[in-house]
Amino acid sequence: MTKKKSKDEGAVDAPEISRLALPVPTHGEPGEEDVVDATTLDDNVTPESRRDLALRRRWFDPQLTLVRFVTRVLVPASIHTYVPAGSSKLTLHCNGQRCVLCMAKHKPTPIYQLPVYFIDDRELAVIEIEREGKAGGLRSPLVSLLKQANFSDLIVEISRKDGRYHVAVIRTLDDTNRDEADYGDDALRDLAARRGVEARDVRAVVERRDNQTLLSDLDWLARKIRLYHPGLDLSAL
Ligand SMILES: [Zn+2]
Repeated sequence: MTKKKSKDEGAVDAPEISRLALPVPTHGEPGEEDVVDATTLDDNVTPESRRDLALRRRWFDPQLTLVRFVTRVLVPASIHTYVPAGSSKLTLHCNGQRCVLCMAKHKPTPIYQLPVYFIDDRELAVIEIEREGKAGGLRSPLVSLLKQANFSDLIVEISRKDGRYHVAVIRTLDDTNRDEADYGDDALRDLAARRGVEARDVRAVVERRDNQTLLSDLDWLARKIRLYHPGLDLSAL
């Protein structure tokens, strides 16, 4: 049954409009989804922006490299570098207390991982900072810059020579000195929209293989563990 329409239906008076704003039934016709009151929704980011961020590991060449900080959150990690694997070498996360690489006396390196924006290549990538500060290392100069309130406005020049890093701020961006150059503003905005870089995305730049996979992949590993830990049941690791 449809309601009989009045002749002057084009005109809608104010009381009519206010009635339109009244709560409407939440159940629609079959096949229609229920209406949703916006105040009942959480404002989480959408699944689209939650997708994993594809990052890679990068280090600094002797050439001058310009970077910009995107976060001051350091991700601690312990990594095994130069792990022999046939004719190549692997870099792998340490598997912690019962790590088979550690048991074979392959020493892990404690580091901090930090995503930074490489200005020249327009790339967000993860660098490694030694956990313990040392002369010529990255930790001391980078941490002091990250402590500044305007850390994300700094254009930082980094180079490496004879095993020592040289870090210098060549410019501080502010509204009065912006030019047309691309300093990664778009990338920073994208990151802000996805609420920063997640630690799991940062950790993912280094491969992780579980103990049993390592034992089957690396033929030297079991032999070496048996040497240091005779009688140990390797299948329980
Ligand atoms: Zn380990």
